Amino acid sequence: MTHRILVAGFQHETNTFAPTKAGYENFVRGEGFPQLVRGDDVLSLREVNIPAGGFLLEAERLGYETVPVIWAGASPSAHVRKETYDRIVDEILQAAALEEIHGIYLDLHGAMVAEHTDDGEGTLLKRLRTVVGDNMPIVVSLDLHANVTQAMIDNADAMVAYRTYPHIDMADTGKRAAELMSLRIGSGKLHRFSLRLPFLIPINGMCTLLAPAKSLYERLEALESTDLSLSFSPGFPAADFEECGPVVWGYGTNEYDLQSAVTELHKMITDGEDYWEVPFLDPDEAVTLAITIANGASKPVVIADTQDNPGAGGDSNTTGMIKALLRNGARSAGVGLLWDPSAVQEAMKAGVGGRIFIALGGQSSVEGDSPLEAEFEVIHLSNGQCRFAGPMMHGMEVDLGPVACLQIEGVKIAVSSSKSQMLDRVLYRVAGIEPENMSILVNKSSVHFRADFEPIAERVLVAKAPGPMIADPADIPWTKLKKGIRLKPNGLPFN
Ligand SMILES: [Zn+2]
Repeated sequence: MTHRILVAGFQHETNTFAPTKAGYENFVRGEGFPQLVRGDDVLSLREVNIPAGGFLLEAERLGYETVPVIWAGASPSAHVRKETYDRIVDEILQAAALEEIHGIYLDLHGAMVAEHTDDGEGTLLKRLRTVVGDNMPIVVSLDLHANVTQAMIDNADAMVAYRTYPHIDMADTGKRAAELMSLRIGSGKLHRFSLRLPFLIPINGMCTLLAPAKSLYERLEALESTDLSLSFSPGFPAADFEECGPVVWGYGTNEYDLQSAVTELHKMITDGEDYWEVPFLDPDEAVTLAITIANGASKPVVIADTQDNPGAGGDSNTTGMIKALLRNGARSAGVGLLWDPSAVQEAMKAGVGGRIFIALGGQSSVEGDSPLEAEFEVIHLSNGQCRFAGPMMHGMEVDLGPVACLQIEGVKIAVSSSKSQMLDRVLYRVAGIEPENMSILVNKSSVHFRADFEPIAERVLVAKAPGPMIADPADIPWTKLKKGIRLKPNGLPFN
């Protein structure tokens, strides 16, 4: 018998403190993700480094027939609007009710909050379970930043998360989900076991190129076997709800092996709590340190402007780091990408070589952020079309709309007409900036930039300029967290 597996994807990482909500049109555009696709068009994602792509390829290899329904993802932001959530979820539920299928694969993020539900994925899975009954295999892939909830664990047969940040194993995670589907179909229901961690982790501390995350995931993979799957999601610490936080979990055919592996990983993280702490710099500290290091260095010093990361709900338009560069006299510094469509329009009117007096960026309405009112020289203009060349989104075409490079003193700013996280060096080149030739680069990104920038960086620093993505979870005005969870490694408990 050929097994027919329903395939659907719905990804959103929700920062409940961010300024802008996600509506249907955000999913239609994709915004850094592929655009929304339905039916057989979902199969076009096979070659893309996203979980559904990896799942489709592996499912084919395993001899499954796939029933593609919808794939929708949008850039991280505040809550998904209720009508958008219902529209996409209802399409998945209807297909699950109507199609003759033997299993369901969902490509989800795991940290979605909608206007009407704090647990976007848990609610989806609960409703899906009601439609298809207890015996239908449901397997899910999740982002490394998932806030895994009890409803998700209770209603999915198996879930497996990325284990790289920067996320270079998205398609591989889809492949792992297909293998889990095969194990579930072949062996029947699997044992499940999960443990929550007692503290939140700043996203900058989750990078898997560095300790402690690197060794944790190495151990996790060493403990796995063909019938034991393990995951650790350090969470997305900007979603204000009770189950926000890190979780270790897994599935297996042998309950004892499963429980001892999950327990070992949990202990490894709690025993090493000190290592998960993150040193943050204020903007002036970061710039002065960068200038000192850059003196005599042959490669740029890269500063993460982490609190304005559009990959975590920022709007990429704060000016705190630019002002710090100017205040401290930085030379040969590049900043990108700053999202300000009207500044680009002014630059286009003036043309290359023209000078414009504008109020640049600073629209975040975050305390301490304001527009930079100054004269800028337009030194480059382009149509914003380019192709990612770095390890994370290699090969994906991007269209940023018109892009301008604005120069003020020793600082070149890549200004774009649409938001995109600085996760690929081509996003500087599209503005005429050669990143390798700069002394200092300020990237509006938290961790993803590391995949493409670490190889050219003398050092990477993390700065906290005023912005909507609060990097230190202890700085966040939480209201709904579970009482007792510590707000950062070795931090105070929420109460
Ligand atoms: Zn993520």
